[in-house]
Amino acid sequence: MAERIPRVPVREQDPKVRATNFEEVCYGYNEAEAKLEASRCLHCKNPRCVGACPVGIDIPGFIAEVASGNFTSAAEVIARDSSLPAVCGRVCPQETQCEGSCVLGVKFEPVAIGKLERFVADWSHAQNAATYTKASQTQGTAAETGAPASDSERPAIPLEGVQGVKYSSGANKRVAVIGSGPAGLACASDLAKWGYDVTIFEALHKAGGVLEYGIPEFRLPKETVLKSEIAEVTRLGVKIETDVIIGRTVTIDQLMDQEGFEAVFVGTGAGLPKFMGIPGENLCGVFSANEFLTRNNLMMAFREDYLTPIHAGKKVCVVGGGNVAMDAARTALRLGAEVHIVYRRTEAELPARREEVHHAVEEGIVFDMLTNPVEVLGDDKGWVRALKCIRMELGEPDESGRRSPVPIPGSEFEIPTETVIMALGTSPNPLIARTTAGLEMTRRGCLVANEDGATTREGIFAGGDAVSGAATVILAMGAGRKAAKAIDEYLKAKA
Ligand code: FAD
Repeated sequence: MAERIPRVPVREQDPKVRATNFEEVCYGYNEAEAKLEASRCLHCKNPRCVGACPVGIDIPGFIAEVASGNFTSAAEVIARDSSLPAVCGRVCPQETQCEGSCVLGVKFEPVAIGKLERFVADWSHAQNAATYTKASQTQGTAAETGAPASDSERPAIPLEGVQGVKYSSGANKRVAVIGSGPAGLACASDLAKWGYDVTIFEALHKAGGVLEYGIPEFRLPKETVLKSEIAEVTRLGVKIETDVIIGRTVTIDQLMDQEGFEAVFVGTGAGLPKFMGIPGENLCGVFSANEFLTRNNLMMAFREDYLTPIHAGKKVCVVGGGNVAMDAARTALRLGAEVHIVYRRTEAELPARREEVHHAVEEGIVFDMLTNPVEVLGDDKGWVRALKCIRMELGEPDESGRRSPVPIPGSEFEIPTETVIMALGTSPNPLIARTTAGLEMTRRGCLVANEDGATTREGIFAGGDAVSGAATVILAMGAGRKAAKAIDEYLKAKA
């Protein structure tokens, strides 16, 4: 197999410049680059990439349209299976999913499926934006209000079910979706396409879940990307009620018994942070990564025109080695701090995506490997002054297959720092299970649900991080779609 065209590189912001701003790191492909990259696809008879995509996008199908310059058709192909292509094109771990299964990748570099998906989604949103502007010039209001322009003027979203199967009309039956993260948005989109009357209830004041409050602006722009994708979901007829905490503002039982919802999908994520349980974790200047990122992304601490700033200080230690740790570290760097990642294993065991680690290194994040915190030290006013750590070495592999870190006795030392951010993972919030009779949780705090998302209580379905524990955007979307199908079947059987 002789490869004629190497993978088309993607343009990125210069590391030195981007380390000082919150603008998007990756610029994405332009039309010519996208067409050239699309022309590398082998169009396998049995495309393994499709099987490796948790929502089953017809990847060769949309890539063929890109190669021919039919971007509207490409967007339509993707929209059959994904409601968040601009998001997934940016944040999915493609290297372990679609691109990891690309046959071209056996000998050469796989097709840049994620970057092509992103191109198509961005192109499509740009057409919609142009349509809004055109409509506003004739009607005078659409662009100001964000109101949808006439449907005939936009690329169509096919009103089809999972993998092209048509479902019967939901006959306006009411379904409540709790949580507006990728699981909730995917579930709500499919149900709305099939005619259900869907309302999403979201605890925060903005929709999007981790996409809004967790993943930073420089990886996923909110106004230009996320907002457009959520607008597509509401255009299907999905209503989103923010500032409603199910289990506090109103319970699931009240939604079902008093407000006429015939089924409920719980997509409440895994937002409860874990801490190490070491002395000093309650000092001022210790954050969970979730809090630190939420203050930045949702409360816009990085913008000077907002009244909710955050104190990162001159030096920040981020404890952990996953994607969340990279996001927290790169955010702190952009707030002007010198940032150290403190990780108890070596670079080879870092759970974060290679691309994220590469970007963090390029931007100047310092990696303190084989290092484990034992105490957070404070000054006499109760603020963090240093992180006391111990050096580690790698021992035998543990149950995860990774070599377990073992402390080296007597090797304790201090890293002077003003801020410590704990990025050690999260678990689901138990509020929903505790306020809904018959809804069982596992010992790890996850909701109990079967493959199709049916929980231990009739009429209540669940999926995403709330069931699996912290995972990925596309897995949450896949779970949301499966549950939508199960809800459709449940309501049809009930009728
Ligand atoms: P969430 O996105 O957590 O959404 C749940 C929503 O439910 C939230 O908006 C929450 O406010 C709301 N909610 C909770 N309780 C209630 C209640 N009682 N009532 C009403 N609403 C409620 N994955 C990737 O694939 N790629 C990445 O690059 C990536 N980066 C990440 C970076 C960070 C910082 C984090 C934290 C996660 C990252 N992930 C990434 C993981 C991914 O974001 C999650 O797996 C995914 O968002 C889970 O989707 P979800 O819909 O299940 O939950």
